Amino acid sequence: MKADKDPMGTAIRDYYLTGKASRLRVFSPDFDEDEIPVPTLFRSFQEMPPLERKALKLAKGRILDVGAGSGCHSLSLQEMGKDVEAIDISPLSVLTMKDRGVKKVKELDFFQIKGELFDTILMLMNGAGIVGKIDKLPDFFNHIKTLLANDGVLLVDSSDLRYLFEEEDGSFMINLNDNYYGEMEFQLQYRNIKGDKFPWLYIDFNTLQMYAEDNGFHAEIIHEGDHYDYLAKIYR
Ligand code: SAH
Repeated sequence: MKADKDPMGTAIRDYYLTGKASRLRVFSPDFDEDEIPVPTLFRSFQEMPPLERKALKLAKGRILDVGAGSGCHSLSLQEMGKDVEAIDISPLSVLTMKDRGVKKVKELDFFQIKGELFDTILMLMNGAGIVGKIDKLPDFFNHIKTLLANDGVLLVDSSDLRYLFEEEDGSFMINLNDNYYGEMEFQLQYRNIKGDKFPWLYIDFNTLQMYAEDNGFHAEIIHEGDHYDYLAKIYR
């Protein structure tokens, strides 16, 4: 990713350097314009939701923080004395992580990592999103197989977007002929910097578990958040 196509990294850089940021805007064909509050990308361990704190407590051995952003999780893990490596495709986020003291950090696409084994792979803040689309899940699990030590675990969070389709009577209107209802497309903008559109997957636990089992893994919910969100543990 080039810095002039890196809205989130620019927002993270600004906030790190000045303590302030403009609006990090989110566009999607499925929603009204939204925004990501930039300070939340710098949350401390105490400010993290219980789901994320649980994931950090469980992480052990050689840990990979995928899509690490400002490095909030990696820095917390380092403070706990754990061994973590952060990766992100955003050059300005990677630069900021280095400046903030993340010891091992690389500008790298998760899908390009080769020849490394981790005991814990962390994908947090709708971390399953990186898969993009449901039909990419088999490739995703094959890649995880190459990166996860035999008794390693993937800790990943997501939300079930079915609440978006809930009717007033409590029933759900989901058209089974459409694409899976959690497949979203986003585009971010910060100041005049517009990123490319990208697909982002939100997946309900049952669907995730079904794909995990089909691809040689087990999946368990280890924490449920308060809004259709959950943390899953995936292991061989
Ligand atoms: N985990 C951080 C940031 C979440 S935002 C937090 O919880 O605050 C998602 C991050 O994933 C962004 O920083 C984005 O640049 C990064 N990302 C997206 N696709 C990626 C990929 N294929 N490989 C590595 N990082 C990726």
